[in-house]
Amino acid sequence: MKAAGPLVLHYHGLGEVPRRLDPFELMLPAATFRSHVELLKKRGYRFVAQQELARILGAGQPAEATCSITFDDGTADNATVLPPLLEALEVPATIFACPGLLGKPYPFTDPEAKIRLMDRDELIETAAHPLIEIGSHTREHTILEHASAEEALSEMSASRAGLESLLGCPVLSFAYPNCVYSAACPGAAERAGYTSAVTCGRRGGLDPYELRRQSPSPKDGRLRFELKSRGVFHDVWERSPIRLARAVTRPLRGRR
Ligand SMILES: [Zn+2]
Repeated sequence: MKAAGPLVLHYHGLGEVPRRLDPFELMLPAATFRSHVELLKKRGYRFVAQQELARILGAGQPAEATCSITFDDGTADNATVLPPLLEALEVPATIFACPGLLGKPYPFTDPEAKIRLMDRDELIETAAHPLIEIGSHTREHTILEHASAEEALSEMSASRAGLESLLGCPVLSFAYPNCVYSAACPGAAERAGYTSAVTCGRRGGLDPYELRRQSPSPKDGRLRFELKSRGVFHDVWERSPIRLARAVTRPLRGRR
């Protein structure tokens, strides 16, 4: 088994939502999140906020068994459910918010789920929590997959400035919406003043401006989370005989 970490975990909302209202599988029960952190604690992980992980990587310090927990989009549960959980677990987390979408309905779950993004006051209060760092996720969840250097810099600078003037503290971490980014984005993130920018899936790696995250999903059992937390999910799971067999038999089993 290869050396553990650093590990950057990628979550969205905490809550139990029927699968049909959460087509992108973004909502995770709080108890599941808790079990992930407890498992990693047992494995000896230390937990740091994203800006601290960026500092460690930038300084060339050892980052084995170091975990940064991140949440994208800033759903309202991140202001209510998350802070007491972090206190109980004694771990920090970083929330990537869009200053242009505060208080709006969450666009990635069904309206029937009635999930919304944190409003202005909730974000200010959450940012003041000692275990929480706020990072930027563009102003309005702008997809940067085809952004020119100028477009990326403008979006990244404006969202950073918007959050900093609202929160009165430095905003140093950035998350690419949908984890996608053009070749110009990593350089633009650095020029915009961020110390790291995170992605997910098969994209990126250990570069601080293309830092890969692992994305636990509500479908994950213990095995899938184990593979993700060890950074080998895509290589192992997607080639596994079980998954291949499931892919072949899917038409017979019908679709969800
Ligand atoms: Zn997002």
